[in-house]
Amino acid sequence: MRILVVEDEHRIANSIKKGLEQERYAVDIAFSGTDGYDLASTEDYDLIILDLMLPGMPGLTICQELRKKQIHTPIMILTAKGQIQDKVTGLDSGADDYLVKPFSFEELLARIRALIRRPKTSLNPVLTVFELEMDTKSYEVKRQKKIINLSSKEFSLLEYLLRHKNQILTKNQIIAHVWNYNADILPNTVEVYIRNLRDKIDRPFKNSQPLIHTVRGFGYKIGE
Ligand code: CA
Repeated sequence: MRILVVEDEHRIANSIKKGLEQERYAVDIAFSGTDGYDLASTEDYDLIILDLMLPGMPGLTICQELRKKQIHTPIMILTAKGQIQDKVTGLDSGADDYLVKPFSFEELLARIRALIRRPKTSLNPVLTVFELEMDTKSYEVKRQKKIINLSSKEFSLLEYLLRHKNQILTKNQIIAHVWNYNADILPNTVEVYIRNLRDKIDRPFKNSQPLIHTVRGFGYKIGE
């Protein structure tokens, strides 16, 4: 899952990025409102964390403009202002949630999880397909009850596939949601990671069916 952090205080922005990357998110930072708006309107994010007081373009304007452009990426406003009126204005501008600085990283993570799963109705952090289970909270992946160890990128890739179970995903969609803007992506990067993932979640389970499918000319999907 890929997150955009729009925050002009470098220390805060960098520490959020570092923390989120440890939790397997791909993260881009914009240090100004204008850069944030440009990235948010051209790249495909799963969540935007948005400061309100920003140089270039204020957070509330970014929020309103994105919604006007029919960009419905979940937005969490992050700000030092804790007044009720600011919260109301933020939510009325199209934000989905509001967190007042200083905040605990644990709370930020819990709210991110809630926003990312919002299109689904389930509160269950466990994603499944057939006999494969991924716990997005404890990072445990199991197939036939056997624990599978994945690298951080493999985990992100599998999570993205599972969140779009039975849908064909193109390489470009996969890159857009699993890697950040500055990542070095080679033409075969996705293939390499898909192969690694198959080596871990499909090949060792020869008595069962493969779960990752190549749809020639289109991309990949996970399903029974
Ligand atoms: Ca600020």
